Amino acid sequence: MSEPQPKPKKPRGIARLIAGACIACGARCQAVCPVNCVEMTDSGEPVIDTAKCIGCQKCVKICPASALEMFFTPEEQKILEQLAASAIPVEEEVDPEAAALALKLAEYRGVWVFVEQTEGEPAKVSWELLGVGADLAAKLGVELCALVIGESVEHLCSESFAYGAAKTYLLDAPVYKYYRTEAYVEGCCHLIEKYKPEIILMGATGMGRDLAGAIATRVATGLTADCTGLAIDEKRNLMQTRPAFGGNIMATIMCDKFRPQMSTVRPNVMPMPERREGAKGIIIRDPFTVTEDSVLTKVIEIIRDSHSKGTVDITGAEFIISGGRGMMAPENFTLLQELADELGGVVGASRSAVDAGWMPGDRQVGQTGKTVRPKIYIACGISGAIQHLVGMQDSDIVIAINRDSSAPIFEVATYGIVGDLFQVVPAITKRIRKMKQARR
Ligand SMILES: Cc1cc2nc3c(=O)[nH]c(=O)nc-3n(C[C@H](O)[C@H](O)[C@H](O)COP(=O)(O)OP(=O)(O)OC[C@H]3O[C@@H](n4cnc5c(N)ncnc54)[C@H](O)[C@@H]3O)c2cc1C
Repeated sequence: MSEPQPKPKKPRGIARLIAGACIACGARCQAVCPVNCVEMTDSGEPVIDTAKCIGCQKCVKICPASALEMFFTPEEQKILEQLAASAIPVEEEVDPEAAALALKLAEYRGVWVFVEQTEGEPAKVSWELLGVGADLAAKLGVELCALVIGESVEHLCSESFAYGAAKTYLLDAPVYKYYRTEAYVEGCCHLIEKYKPEIILMGATGMGRDLAGAIATRVATGLTADCTGLAIDEKRNLMQTRPAFGGNIMATIMCDKFRPQMSTVRPNVMPMPERREGAKGIIIRDPFTVTEDSVLTKVIEIIRDSHSKGTVDITGAEFIISGGRGMMAPENFTLLQELADELGGVVGASRSAVDAGWMPGDRQVGQTGKTVRPKIYIACGISGAIQHLVGMQDSDIVIAINRDSSAPIFEVATYGIVGDLFQVVPAITKRIRKMKQARR
């Protein structure tokens, strides 16, 4: 009987630079090297200490220009070829660091959505997040859970079930009556440490932004703000897409070494899920509470913002007629208001129109304005810069009116009208009025 063959070890090789390929991206290869064998030259190119390199391939994988490759000696090359030809099982080395990380991450399971409420009134964005949360939970094969915090807010648990949650974690106590960062952070962190969710989604509202940032800092994890897309990769990581560099590119951000993964999403970015009346779920009432004395912020009185009276909330409108720099002057916005009145809609604006002082800031649509998702969005004299598009491109129907046929707005438009808005808009208004009169 012949002796069993020892399993050959797969050569690891060493990393080396491909001449002329480095783009001096900012020393990413140096940053990931676990054995500090990468030094940078003054021109930003890596110099690899081959004596120290352990062939982990981290620098090769991170290089955005594929300027690093693995080098094998002729002997190692031979072994690799033999292994490939003989198909002898190779003894893969287990990276103990990676194994420990995988075990730690596996402790976290479930997708949570924070249900934002003010005096018991839920923020619609919470339900939108349950919609996208359901897709993520299904992909991961885990439960979709809601997180409800407040005083006398149990009715929001049933609402959460109606919008898709299977379970709701509830903190209901007088100390949570008004949103105060300290109390809510304590409550959330307690639940996170106890139940270990792998994903937490919050609305990118004043409250959500404040709370998410404070929690991420406390539990030492990553947070991606203002996501416009969420998906799961093959390793269960959350792929969080958002505009970056002033909206000129879309970046997908991952938090692959820490849990929970946290994202905020602006209202109206995700579609509303269908409401399932009477849907049932499990309520986990956690008795955790914070003493009133330990909360430094006290709510003495709530004073409603008198300026907000009479202001228009464009985010909830079904018809938005927006004007841009092509409107030429503030008084020309009355043309848009007339059309909006006929349609029962509101007037929005591009940032250029707002910066020019033609429209108030709360009408601005776009990256630094509001995200809207109306049934019909009519863009008048708006070129369609990416920063504007991210705020309105998910509208059901986009109608663009622009005299420049090559304006980028036409790329997202369902219907495009190439023409002078000062002729086209009044003509549409007139036509609608006529149609309405004919129906009476
Ligand atoms: C960090 C950052 C954030 C930003 N955030 C936002 C944001 O939230 N929202 C936003 O809108 N922008 C934002 N911007 C600005 C954005 O880049 C554009 O500058 C802006 O959207 C352009 O506005 P506009 O289309 O009205 O003007 P322009 O780009 O000047 O376009 C005017 C258009 O009107 C057309 N026009 C002129 N006269 C007529 C006419 N008589 N009839 C028909 N068409 C006519 C022209 O052909 C042109 O296409 C941001 C920029 C940065 C850098």
